[in-house]
Amino acid sequence: MKKHNFFAGPCILSEYTIKNTADAVINFAGMGLSILEISHREKEFVAVVDEARALFKELLNIPDGYQVLFLGGGASLQFCMVPFNLLEKKAAYLETGTWAKNAIKEAKLFGEVDVVASSADKNFSYIPKDYKIPADADYFHITTNNTIFGTEIHTDMDCDIPLVADMSSDIFSRPVDISKYALIYGGAQKNLAPAGVTFVIVKEELLGKVSRPIPTMLDYRTHIKGESMFNTPPVLPIYAALQTLKWYKQVGGLEELYRRNKAKAELLYGEIDANKLFKGTAAVEDRSIMNVCFVMNDEYKDLEAEFAAFAKERGMVGIKGHRSVGGFRASIYNALPIESVQALVDTMREFAAKH
Ligand SMILES: *Cc1c(COP(=O)(O)O)cnc(C)c1O
Repeated sequence: MKKHNFFAGPCILSEYTIKNTADAVINFAGMGLSILEISHREKEFVAVVDEARALFKELLNIPDGYQVLFLGGGASLQFCMVPFNLLEKKAAYLETGTWAKNAIKEAKLFGEVDVVASSADKNFSYIPKDYKIPADADYFHITTNNTIFGTEIHTDMDCDIPLVADMSSDIFSRPVDISKYALIYGGAQKNLAPAGVTFVIVKEELLGKVSRPIPTMLDYRTHIKGESMFNTPPVLPIYAALQTLKWYKQVGGLEELYRRNKAKAELLYGEIDANKLFKGTAAVEDRSIMNVCFVMNDEYKDLEAEFAAFAKERGMVGIKGHRSVGGFRASIYNALPIESVQALVDTMREFAAKH
């Protein structure tokens, strides 16, 4: 039976990505060699990086003045690289979940951090709306999609100071107005590629303004100058990312992916709201279209393990909620077909009919 893959990350990738990546592991670009065993300086691989960068720019409509980088270290290294490169005295952060907290912790190593608002009071089940961004901060950091708690900032906000966003789990899920951001980063393992590559989109004019020395590897300018090849890049994940980007273009780009994602999210939230056994955990207006968190209603709490087993029997994989929320989380990333969401909805209905 084909499994329905709801893992939060690493997670489902398109069949196109998996198939082409598998082929390249056997014979890359007709070289008669595996992509695992070639120099990253070979022209065939340099072409992969160039094409991935170009497609990133095309699909996200990235204006001039921005650079796209493919790095190692995960989004978690960006929690430190961002303040290393941009924080001179003070930075502002919005605390919307575990990843935002981790980013704040790192920034504090570099200067003053103003946490302008937090939703910790209600276990990060909503996005704070009422806050003031200090005009004298070097940047304002947000996490656009809170993978663990299933909340999302749905629009590109106006901000008078440079806006920095962790978009690990919602990049490419909708069209984004890149011009509103100074820097966007994310681990690729949620909508793009297997784990191992991190993307950074950075407005170049913001770099080189802090007075501290920056270690070579942690300085964005090193990687701009080296065209993401200063040192050995994560070759295979970059190749896989390129396949995903090609697939995104084939299916119709971000407008079409956004349309599909909204349809999938509406279908699943609709069932959660209608089904007597379940309830959503995120504030309705802040519900993520990528990570859907839900729990059993109080009077049915003791059915949780039974539902988990029931869903597993029907091919549902990866729906266990994160330990900090409990219950269930269905991640419905770009590559997940609506048929998988329908299968989960059918499972929820069938289970409710039994009880
Ligand atoms: C998964 C995730 C991270 C951590 O990514 P790593 O690449 O594992 O460091 C950071 N932020 C968000 C929003 C995430 O979903």
